[in-house]
Amino acid sequence: MVEELVIESYNPWEMALAQFDHAAQYLDLKAGIYEMMRHPKRELTVSFPVQMDDDSVEIFTGYRVHHSTARGPTKGGIRYSSGVTLDEVRALAMWMTWKVAVANLPFGGAKGGVICNPKELSESELENLTRRYATEISLLMSPEGDIPAPDMGTGPQTMAWIMDTYSMHRGHSEPAVVTGKPIEIGGSLGRLEATGRGVLVVAQEAADYLDMALAGASVAVQGFGNVGSVSARLLQEAGARVVAVSDSRGGINDPGGLDIPGVIQHKKETGSVVGFGNAEGVTNAELLELPVDILAPAAMENQINEANAPYIQAKLIVEGANGPTTPEADAVLTERGCFVVPDILANAGGVTVSYFEWVQGLQYFFWSENEINKQLHQIMCQSFADVVDIMHQHEADGIDMRTAAYILGISRVNQATLLRGIYP
Ligand code: NAD
Repeated sequence: MVEELVIESYNPWEMALAQFDHAAQYLDLKAGIYEMMRHPKRELTVSFPVQMDDDSVEIFTGYRVHHSTARGPTKGGIRYSSGVTLDEVRALAMWMTWKVAVANLPFGGAKGGVICNPKELSESELENLTRRYATEISLLMSPEGDIPAPDMGTGPQTMAWIMDTYSMHRGHSEPAVVTGKPIEIGGSLGRLEATGRGVLVVAQEAADYLDMALAGASVAVQGFGNVGSVSARLLQEAGARVVAVSDSRGGINDPGGLDIPGVIQHKKETGSVVGFGNAEGVTNAELLELPVDILAPAAMENQINEANAPYIQAKLIVEGANGPTTPEADAVLTERGCFVVPDILANAGGVTVSYFEWVQGLQYFFWSENEINKQLHQIMCQSFADVVDIMHQHEADGIDMRTAAYILGISRVNQATLLRGIYP
């Protein structure tokens, strides 16, 4: 479950457009297709009433944005946070388009969000809010058209309520309308861990590429929710020394290495990583600047920016979160020789196993966890190799991994658009 999010004055949609424009200059896009890609295909804003526990009725605002359908039905998570804005949802939807294209999945990009602080809502208020929001966006949602998934502040229970609500309206169960569901109602083995497992795979690939040993490498992870906690645990199991982790209440640091299963237990009991064992306290800002080999931002946008990029000491950054690094910070990091595995590649493990869950749901035929992890590993390695290839093809331009990943994603969406043609 999410902690309260604070997004300072910064616009994620402007950032997404700047990243797109930067990569587009290396592609020979037709003017009309370039413009098409800079516009979300459709956006829905909904205001809806929710019955609260004290018998009052509150009005909430939510969004669902489809950025592109060129490569297939749209896919993207739903975020519950008081910081949600339409521009944030637009940016996250566009990032999904490039992410699924980089992983070569047959999807387009979407995202949803509701302005709320889920920590301040009771279980029944959350259920009421979710069922009503699901009904409002059911105009756009379907197993063939748009398939939501969890993001910050939502999880398997939220997906179960959405699946049930949609199914009640149809008169029969439609498990493939959302992914990230509990296993008992058609979820996929391995989905809960998938984003963190993907982070591990690309961290390993990047370490190999940089001739750096993952075993023994020191790691700091910002954010200790689904993505951060699983990434920290799997990196530690792979032999890395996770020295610092954090959540919205602050962080902890032990240069000798933290006992991550112990930290997970501590967070379960107390609601935060803060106060674990004998670890020293660090702020989220300090954590990013620790002298570590690998940094995994896994919380939210705009964490590595112009102000702190000059002080980041990690040689490798693996972006578990979406949009954690601003374009200004990217320029500084590249200049300083820091290798950044961008979000649209590094955190694609979640949507990859969501794809497997969707396929299993459509076929009512379920795979073993081994099979899922094997296929996930294969797709993540292939995507990493494809992006490195593009980076090498553009050696003379000196592009970074983010630009290479964008070039790959945008060119795949461009090819699909050209092949389909402009209707009518
Ligand atoms: P989550 O709600 O499970 O966890 C979020 C974590 O971030 C919590 O530990 C929270 O305390 C922490 N956090 C919140 N505000 C913070 C702040 N200001 N400073 C430091 N930590 C803060 O969410 P999640 O699903 O783990 O998502 C985290 C990020 O990963 C988001 O950017 C999300 O879009 C991205 N992502 C998630 C998935 C997925 O499958 N869940 C897939 C791809 C990308």
